Amino acid sequence: MDKSQSTGLLFEISHKGRRCHLLPDCDVPTKTSAELLDKKYLSNDPTHLPEMAEIDIVRHFVNLSTKNMAIDCNFYPLGSCTMKYNPKRHERLGALSGLAHVHPLQDDQTCQGMLEILWEMQNYLAEIAGLDGVSLQPAAGAQGELTALLVAAAYFRDKKEKRTKVLIPDSAHGTNPASAAIAGFDTITIKSNARGRVDMDDLISKIDSQTAVFMITNPNTLGLFDEQIVQITDLIHKAGGLVYLDGANMNAILGITRPGDFGADMMHYNVHKTFTGPHGAGGPGSGPIAVRKQLIPFLPAPLIIKTNEGFKLDYDRPKSIGRVRSFFGNVGILLRGYFYIRTLGPDGLKQVSQNAVLNANYLLSLLKDSFDVPHGDRCMHEFVASARTLRRDKKISAMDIGKRLLDFGYHAPTVYFPLVVSEAMMMEPTETESKETLDHFAQTLIKIRDEDAEFLHGAPHTLDISRPDEVKAAKEPMLRWKK
Ligand SMILES: *Cc1c(COP(=O)(O)O)cnc(C)c1O
Repeated sequence: MDKSQSTGLLFEISHKGRRCHLLPDCDVPTKTSAELLDKKYLSNDPTHLPEMAEIDIVRHFVNLSTKNMAIDCNFYPLGSCTMKYNPKRHERLGALSGLAHVHPLQDDQTCQGMLEILWEMQNYLAEIAGLDGVSLQPAAGAQGELTALLVAAAYFRDKKEKRTKVLIPDSAHGTNPASAAIAGFDTITIKSNARGRVDMDDLISKIDSQTAVFMITNPNTLGLFDEQIVQITDLIHKAGGLVYLDGANMNAILGITRPGDFGADMMHYNVHKTFTGPHGAGGPGSGPIAVRKQLIPFLPAPLIIKTNEGFKLDYDRPKSIGRVRSFFGNVGILLRGYFYIRTLGPDGLKQVSQNAVLNANYLLSLLKDSFDVPHGDRCMHEFVASARTLRRDKKISAMDIGKRLLDFGYHAPTVYFPLVVSEAMMMEPTETESKETLDHFAQTLIKIRDEDAEFLHGAPHTLDISRPDEVKAAKEPMLRWKK
């Protein structure tokens, strides 16, 4: 097939007069829009819509769908993102008309089923967190961070305490300092020690009466559980501060430990990571937050509550920071997370984390003799390898390896994050991958390591687009077709 035809835009492959189907002429007398509408509402220009046969439309979109990496087509070891399989059962359940056809502006009494599901979801997320109250509103993890920090700011304002600083380890995700800054705090970086954990001396030297929040990812972005966590949370609490847990790595600890039990006061979930919501390409997402009792009054309104007259949206929350998203949050993803939690139950969720950690350690064991893994004896659900000696000795970078993996049908690992490891390649296989997939992936990585550097600099060699200018693509995306 002529490739240009399948890759052209709909407008370019349009043919005047082509139609998907032809209906017979209507034999009921009707009026045209020109007869029905006042002339001033009629457009003078014809609408420029593509005109195509159904089969060409289907081919166009199916072909486009294969031009991207997707969890349904490719192994996707993108560290920190928990790219696990999204069960198709969730799509079927989410499409049930009682769920899919509820309108958010319906009266509470007419959508009791949906409200009950969301109320239960609030309770499940509180239980898994070991915390007391949940808001389902934030649309992604980053918005959850911002929301929780605004809640913390409102809490301190209410207590008439002036606290201006948020402490964040240097291994944190970039959204942590960004959220703290947007919420109006000053951010203070805490060093990691040689073991990849929080440097306690540095932390202690930076805690003071201005400390509002300590944000920690645990297990952290190196895939390591910081076992100093109880000591850390005690220190912060003694200084009057709050502890925030970045919950992006919950896939490692479901049912094994709870953030509330190790001293976190607030956290976000990434439902699209941990609980199988599909994600990528910027959305969709869902980032509910869970908080300790004393913070509940400040959560976004409304919360879903159970009363004698049924489930209700509770707007009567005078200390609330207000809304952070329209309606009930990103319900499509919350539903998928709810089905997942209900399907697996407590034992199943624990097994998810055990298998995620097992898979990551298996992959680590296959690779650690062939690549540098700075903190690599054992890991939680992910680990960070480094191409630093390859770069020094052979001029092969983490980017080259990531790009070359695409030729073999693998998505690249997360590269150049976390910042504390140079030439980082962060790999998270998740529990849904088979031993065969992990074996083959490791063999492929080792094969790439031994390839010619010049050849790798030009990779990928088999895709339509090889090395776009990523900064330009992010800053000046062209989302519109222009002639
Ligand atoms: C993904 C991630 C976030 C941000 O979550 P989004 O849902 O992408 O907004 C924050 N921290 C860590 C460690 C993450 O992996």
